[in-house]
Amino acid sequence: MTALSPQLKQATPVLAERGEGVHLFGADGRRYLDFTAGIGVTSTGHCHPVVVRAAQHQVGTLIHGQYTTVMHRPLLELTDRLGEVLPSGLDSLFYVNSGSEAVEAAVRLARHATGRQNIVAFHGGFHGRTMGAGALTTSSTKFRAGIGPMMPGVAIAPFPTAFRHGWPQEQAVDFALDELDYLLATVCAPEDTAAFIVEPVLGEGGYVPADTRFLRGLRERADRYGILLVLDEVQTGVGRTGRFWGHEHFATETRLPDILITAKGLASGFPLSAIAAPSALMANARPGSQGGTYGGNAVACAAALATLDVIREEKLVANAAEQGARLLAGLRSTAGAHPAIGDVRGLGLMCASEFTDPDGRPDPATAARVQQEASARGLLLLTCGALGNTVRMIPPLIVTAEQVDEALTLWSEAVTAATSGSNTRLDD
Ligand code: PMP
Repeated sequence: MTALSPQLKQATPVLAERGEGVHLFGADGRRYLDFTAGIGVTSTGHCHPVVVRAAQHQVGTLIHGQYTTVMHRPLLELTDRLGEVLPSGLDSLFYVNSGSEAVEAAVRLARHATGRQNIVAFHGGFHGRTMGAGALTTSSTKFRAGIGPMMPGVAIAPFPTAFRHGWPQEQAVDFALDELDYLLATVCAPEDTAAFIVEPVLGEGGYVPADTRFLRGLRERADRYGILLVLDEVQTGVGRTGRFWGHEHFATETRLPDILITAKGLASGFPLSAIAAPSALMANARPGSQGGTYGGNAVACAAALATLDVIREEKLVANAAEQGARLLAGLRSTAGAHPAIGDVRGLGLMCASEFTDPDGRPDPATAARVQQEASARGLLLLTCGALGNTVRMIPPLIVTAEQVDEALTLWSEAVTAATSGSNTRLDD
């Protein structure tokens, strides 16, 4: 038999045969609570009937048009629908397939629009694995070690991570903004700087929510220097955080993004990403510089339209806020009983517990054991953070209170087992 690349190492032992709602059914005959949601993708749950019907219909009507060759209705309709939920002023959209491609597209657009080269990203950010997006990614060295040189013209500034320093949040924000000013004064001249790119909640970097004063500080500096503010909402968008866009938690009276990127939950599992910007800005993209063969695929667009319908009809943004608050409270209560959990963070249905040793240092080994103990109990989870010492929960937005409670019970058992020295044998 031909072997899979050893690079395709799985986080869980599951061979998924079928998905339904928040559950996956494995070839082992077991039912799993899927709190990974395909890394935050299956927003409406696995195989939501409305999404399935829309995709099936589209497959029988038109699979692929290639929208720079021929236009198709699902893409036009999706553009109208996204226009209803995007921040006002972001009235021009185009589509590619993945988060990384959308980040690359935003970099090209920002460089064209400003005629400047530098991009400032923030420490702990994850923007993808391609050579451009990878250059902006600093959530772990594993995404860059040995593969450089990456795209030049990138500088990294601190993101406010109070927990890491044991600081109050105010101090972490002051530090991040001071260091950004220092970077702009010493390394990245503002007149050479095209864009800041930031996630409203650090995703792969450890589920660290941003901060209103920090994001406002970026907006002020962007306005002052003519730098564009790119919000990477690949993981935080489309209801995940309990608001339609993650940045809405922090946006006050002013519009935050000049360019917004969305993907993952947008099409419930079909590959689709979108870049939104004001049309005057978008007009700077030079002909031929953006696009791609599969971008805005008709079936993916139809699935996205159905996803937006389901999110609206089933009030999934409100559900994400409600169940997210329940999940976070439950995780905090488990942390109260387990000193191995050094911090619990989250926003909506992006929740995480960070494992630390008795000296407060990151403890990836315990996090990995907890994740495996949870899998053994039928709860699928992923780790994140620079060293993988944070375990995150990102269930589909349809998750119910009962399912959250079931997951919390399994979680508490998994943490107890992983920290008590009597671990479940993983091949059991
Ligand atoms: N940006 C963010 C914030 C992400 O979380 C991810 C994926 N985890 C990406 C970009 C890259 O997306 P993709 O894997 O679809 O290329």
